[in-house]
Amino acid sequence: MKGRPIAERIRGDVASRVEALGRRGVRARLGIILAGDDAASGIYTRSLERACEAVGIEVEVSAVPAAAGEAGVAGEIGRFADDPATHGILVQQPLPAGVSARVVDGIPASKDVDGATTESMGLLVSGGEGFAPCTPLGVIEILKGWEVPVAGRDVVIVGRSAVVGRPLANLLVRKSEAANATVTVCHTGTRNLSAHTRRAEILVAAMGSPRAIGADMLGGEAVVVDVGVNRIEDPDSERGYRVVGDVDFESASGKVAAITPVPGGVGSLTTALLLRNTVEAAEGAA
Ligand code: NAP
Repeated sequence: MKGRPIAERIRGDVASRVEALGRRGVRARLGIILAGDDAASGIYTRSLERACEAVGIEVEVSAVPAAAGEAGVAGEIGRFADDPATHGILVQQPLPAGVSARVVDGIPASKDVDGATTESMGLLVSGGEGFAPCTPLGVIEILKGWEVPVAGRDVVIVGRSAVVGRPLANLLVRKSEAANATVTVCHTGTRNLSAHTRRAEILVAAMGSPRAIGADMLGGEAVVVDVGVNRIEDPDSERGYRVVGDVDFESASGKVAAITPVPGGVGSLTTALLLRNTVEAAEGAA
């Protein structure tokens, strides 16, 4: 189950919605805060800028020096929050040392296009209207795009982080046609992990542990969504490493009904969904 064809479809839909907003005199706009000098965040920000430009979303990157600290980040969040022309706000992670992760709570829910704030998480849990984080949304969209029925099925998620496992569990248990699953969330405190993973009709691996789930841990009819992104040493590769998921793709793909690749699976959807949340925020404000 590749992610790119689904991401392309989402980008196409976003581009036409941006155009429709443009005809009403509204230019969808995303504000990105890049604090400190994390190299990977810088690369991701530039690719995000290109992705925004490709669908017609205006983007402003605010580079905050690490020395500006939490007040510097909070100040830029406040500036974007108060600017009616900015519809979405994204704070790149990781934040510099000394800046609390909760600084993002200054983003109003209506502009929190990455579903990062305590308020957005609360809205997700309580079933309110808000933005969900893009990676769990990517899992939902990949299942939808590949026409995997979710309602009534046993979904096992391995991983309970606030950015992937927990929001995903909340999205999947929603009482709606697209969700309505029975969800088990596993973690390092889970006794007999294999007993859970083997009975899963849909297994989502979000552990951050390279190829930790092998074919012996999977049921034959399972649909597997691998969220993991892990670098492992590979002397044969030009870069000296390669990227693998949390599932051992080679052994698992011969056994299960369907599986997402890494790279090229869930990760391909994250940016497209951030663009979709941004245009949705602009539509909400228009
Ligand atoms: P995280 O915060 O480190 O959380 C990992 C979770 O997995 C924790 O809940 C941990 O349990 C659980 N876990 C780890 N090893 C386990 C084991 N052996 N058995 C059972 N549970 C285990 O990681 P994350 O931020 O959620 O990310 C998970 C993976 O997704 C990473 O590989 C990350 O790179 C990837 N990711 C990809 C995208 C994308 O594609 N765009 C975005 C975000 C994350 P405890 O809670 O008990 O410690």
